[in-house]
Amino acid sequence: MNKPKILVLGAGYGGIMTTVNLQKMLGRDDAQITLVNKHNYHYQTTWLHENAAGTLHHDNTRIPIDEVINKNKVNFIVDTVKEIKHEDKTVVLEGGDTLTYDYLVVGLGFEPATFGIPGIKEHAFSITSINAARKIKAHIEYMFATYSASKEKRDELLTFIVGGAGFTGIEFLGELANRVPELCKEYDVPREKVRIICVEAGPGALPGFDPELVEYAVNLLERKGVEFKIGTAIKEVQEDGVVLSKGEDMEEVKSGTIVWSAGVQGSPVCEAADIGAMRGRVKVNADMRAPGHDDIFVVGDCALIINEEIDRPYPPTAQIAMQQGVIVAKNIKALINGENTKTFKPDIKGTVASLGEGEAIGLVFGRKYFGGTASFLKKMIDNRYLFLLGGIGLVLKKGKLKFF
Ligand code: FAD
Ligand code: NAD
Repeated sequence: MNKPKILVLGAGYGGIMTTVNLQKMLGRDDAQITLVNKHNYHYQTTWLHENAAGTLHHDNTRIPIDEVINKNKVNFIVDTVKEIKHEDKTVVLEGGDTLTYDYLVVGLGFEPATFGIPGIKEHAFSITSINAARKIKAHIEYMFATYSASKEKRDELLTFIVGGAGFTGIEFLGELANRVPELCKEYDVPREKVRIICVEAGPGALPGFDPELVEYAVNLLERKGVEFKIGTAIKEVQEDGVVLSKGEDMEEVKSGTIVWSAGVQGSPVCEAADIGAMRGRVKVNADMRAPGHDDIFVVGDCALIINEEIDRPYPPTAQIAMQQGVIVAKNIKALINGENTKTFKPDIKGTVASLGEGEAIGLVFGRKYFGGTASFLKKMIDNRYLFLLGGIGLVLKKGKLKFF
């Protein structure tokens, strides 16, 4: 009998956890597992804001995929997925190959949501990948170098705008605010010349999060020199700045660097696949399959699942993507063995957001954490993930808390 072909697209949290669990659960004769990813490394998206600000080298964030997969069981292909053709059960790669599958797992992650706002794609940066983070880091340094070397000393070169005070924006601000004093020293720039502005359309930072924790984060960031423009929306991004609106009032702010962190949507490849995606996200069945497609599972930021308690979608997070990877692997094994699939129920332990080295806020199992304790918790969470992915060896290699 032919072995069933399992094809996993994307080696983010969802895809890589599906793959390592499949390789644990299935023997070599049970299935043929193939993983396709754009790069030969997996990266921790949850650390990218540090790479973008330049407070953590990107090599700490990425993990060679060969180090976490068993090459005797998983065929790993470095290529970019171009198209999913569910009618003939194939996937077309940019390199020219076409792969066939019996079971498909779509874990292609997210892209920035631009909400049709003009100029974002052309002129703003977004923290989406190792390459994107490297570009932001290099650009920030270039702004400082250009300012120092120029005669006119244009203020906008040292004005950094962050669009959106969600968790990504707030975490990036924490790192940037820590990096700026170092850059000022390195490029002989007075600190007061630098402006870091956060523009948030909603009535406050981190909408919906615990107010006491939000206050702690905002106060800390303000003390480090971040200016918040709350209740203010970015309406347009231009080559040299942004157009803002607050109610009826419009304002233009000149800036050489706009980082757009005002929301995400699922992968455009998932959107184009005709498997029921809206803004790149498929509202999956209870067992993580795309409705009407019994052979297609969707994980991570490409999947939409509803929190029944509030009848709203769960925010897409690594925490959920990892858990989905485990259940999807189990469900594929069940299908291969002719058994019933299981329902995915997220086990939300809480949320911890970093605010720069040694600082964080967190709500874990209903308890609030601030400052150093929250920062320690965040590192423990990161280490737990590394342990689940690659055991103690990976924790020792890539972990943030070193025990030895
Ligand atoms: P991703 O982790 O984005 O991975 C997608 C993978 O697919 C990547 O390897 C990519 O290279 C690959 N890929 C994409 N397109 C293609 C293609 N066409 N062909 C081949 N390969 C492709 N969540 C938390 O729970 N806790 C946090 O602390 C947290 N912090 C965050 C910090 C930042 C700065 C950001 C941006 C997000 C954070 N999140 C956090 C959210 C979390 O990172 C995402 O929900 C999570 O990464 C989604 O996992 P995923 O597997 O869907 O996709
Ligand atoms: P988000 O959707 O959570 O936040 C985006 C913010 O941008 C919102 O506050 C929104 O009001 C604001 N906004 C939208 N349009 C705007 C405009 N035109 N001008 C100004 N502000 C605007 O997006 P995110 O922060 O990128 O997070 C994406 C996902 O990743 C979320 O699910 C989040 O929970 C998760 N995440 C989690 C963590 C963590 O747990 N530590 C860290 C980062 C991201």
